[in-house]
Amino acid sequence: MPHAEPYFPGAIFSVEDGDTPSVPRVLIAPARYVQGPGVFAHLGRYLRPLEVNRPAVLASPGGHVREGSSIVASLREAGLDPVTVTFEGESSVEEIERIVAALREAGSPVDALIAVGGGKCLDTGKCVAHRLHVPMVSCPTIASNDAPCSALSVVYTPEGAFEAVEFFPDSPALVVVDTDVVARAPLRYLVSGMGDGLATWYEARACFRNPSARTADFARPTVASMTLGEACASTIREFAAGAIAAVRARRVDEALERVVEANTLLSGIGFESSGVAAAHAIATGAFPAFPAVHSSCLHGEMVAVGLLAQLVLEGEMEEAADVAGFLAAVGLPVHLGQIGLDPERDPDSVRAAAEMAAAAPFVDNEPMEVTARGVHAALLGAHELGLEAAAREGDAAYRALHPEPAAA
Ligand SMILES: [Zn+2]
Repeated sequence: MPHAEPYFPGAIFSVEDGDTPSVPRVLIAPARYVQGPGVFAHLGRYLRPLEVNRPAVLASPGGHVREGSSIVASLREAGLDPVTVTFEGESSVEEIERIVAALREAGSPVDALIAVGGGKCLDTGKCVAHRLHVPMVSCPTIASNDAPCSALSVVYTPEGAFEAVEFFPDSPALVVVDTDVVARAPLRYLVSGMGDGLATWYEARACFRNPSARTADFARPTVASMTLGEACASTIREFAAGAIAAVRARRVDEALERVVEANTLLSGIGFESSGVAAAHAIATGAFPAFPAVHSSCLHGEMVAVGLLAQLVLEGEMEEAADVAGFLAAVGLPVHLGQIGLDPERDPDSVRAAAEMAAAAPFVDNEPMEVTARGVHAALLGAHELGLEAAAREGDAAYRALHPEPAAA
């Protein structure tokens, strides 16, 4: 069974609501982070401080062909003796146990787990590394999510429904992001990561404003993680257009490097050590329950709409309009129709989403009382703001990334 308890449970027992000083501040971060063009080819060198001899390389069949082979070659060049293992696509308990068994049977024991791929592959890798008691090495191939740096994994059923969050005592020992690989991945992933990254700051701010708010580890946010969250949002705002142009041209430049770092490192530490709030309550606790949304949207796209609703909920209307303009300009969804929920044709679904979000974990991190009625009004308010932003900015950027629009 996944370990579903945070590793700092002492904090739970010393909490008197509002009694902030008795609750520890905890910063969680990977031990080492390396990012740049072509760095996968030097992975053997970056592994040296870990004194690894026989690492396992976990990737999908396509990942083994695209990046795994050059990684394995680099490890061999560094004198290591890697073994490869295939990720079959779902981060489920069954898949984790299958990989653990395969690696236990693979002759001499492996001494590190290198996961190469998207969020689910890395989350699976963290679960496998924990069970084998070996260090985890994250090699993300897209910059769309917070999996590479965090000490937790989202576990799904074999059918892909959410099952649990598993917490680990250790963060990844090493995160290596090859920006050449990110520049060749579909642009939609990078843009989706901008939505998730941008929300990090506004959710951190909500947690900081509310003395009762807690991170996923039941801790209080640190100034350090808040600062990273703020830098994450400002970096994305400043360099998004340049990074999008770089991926369109399949080249790496300073703008892409900045946004990849924001989406991966700043967002990763920011969310884990600052806490999340209404944007993620809506994006993970409500939207995925609707098949039209679940099947057509990436995580960061749902977070983008959740973020707009959060800002409306907080009464930050000017900020919400400004953020909506930015989201529309980069091609993120800004209204409910773009994620497959139509408040006019299907008002019941929007009402149901509001009820789910108001009951979801972390929504109480908001500094004011959150009710289903309030979330419902915020979703509709965000929808209106988004329609205005789409009319103002045009929806060309969104349509370029979504050739087949979500069925509303
Ligand atoms: Zn997220």
